[in-house]
Amino acid sequence: MGTLHLEVVTPDKVVVSQEVETVVAPGLLGEFGVLEGHVPFLTGLVPGELRYTADGKVQALAVSTGFSEVSNNNVSILVNSAELATEIDLERARRAVQRAQERLAKERGAEDVDFLRAEGALKRAIMRIKVAEKKV
Ligand code: ATP
Repeated sequence: MGTLHLEVVTPDKVVVSQEVETVVAPGLLGEFGVLEGHVPFLTGLVPGELRYTADGKVQALAVSTGFSEVSNNNVSILVNSAELATEIDLERARRAVQRAQERLAKERGAEDVDFLRAEGALKRAIMRIKVAEKKV
């Protein structure tokens, strides 16, 4: 199987930059896979699991909102955050779930709660827990 170059970039750092064989990412319209020779393709990403194989081994990352571009066997993933499954702090993610749930339990319209922000935090934290617990 041929290879692709994968870059996973956040505002803070380059999390992955390497040759890989396959990439599976959480697109706005559902999960999609990329192999060598994929047609050029641009899509938004939602919080979820990004998987890739390199030297036959599967690696998983938790990614949040962003974009993905596939072009000339390069896959660029630009996201607000990305953590390798092994780097996820499970306790921190569990605390984030609890905090978000407490906020969302308040009455709709409560002035001190930004519900969209709390929903976003909940989605990110649940996704981190899923990726960390799967231990691919
Ligand atoms: P928290 O409320 O726990 O900070 P958050 O969803 O608001 O979570 P983000 O704004 O998405 O956090 O990310 C801020 C930074 O912290 C990013 O660099 C992200 O990779 C990192 N990060 C967030 N949660 C975790 C976690 N559970 N384990 C490891 N890194 C994390």
